[in-house]
Amino acid sequence: MYRVRNTQRVIRYNPWIFAKYFDDSMAVTVPHEVAHYLVDCLHGLGRVRPHGVQWRGIMNAFDVEPRATGSFDLAGIPVRRQRRFTYRCECSTHHLVTRRHNSVQRGEARYRCRDCGETLTAAS
Ligand SMILES: [Zn+2]
Ligand SMILES: [Zn+2]
Repeated sequence: MYRVRNTQRVIRYNPWIFAKYFDDSMAVTVPHEVAHYLVDCLHGLGRVRPHGVQWRGIMNAFDVEPRATGSFDLAGIPVRRQRRFTYRCECSTHHLVTRRHNSVQRGEARYRCRDCGETLTAAS
């Protein structure tokens, strides 16, 4: 994927997909993302459609068929795991995903243990 963070332009490739489909990834994914980068440099992201004429033009210049979505079979490719925070109650340990953890920290939400009914508190 291609993204811009502050002023940094970053292309990030999924190592699992590359490990499984190296040749196809080199032939398709690399020019696809590099074309996004070039569109950003030439036109600015958000000023043109992501897979619009400008992007397709660059893909054509690379001599790669401009398809917007990959057709890789993602079976066996792990999805990115969410960060989890450890909470405790009277009887056990629980894990909250970041979104829930943040609302607890902001005092917007409380979660109770289904077994003992205690309000969960952050461990450590
Ligand atoms: Zn794209
Ligand atoms: Zn409990």
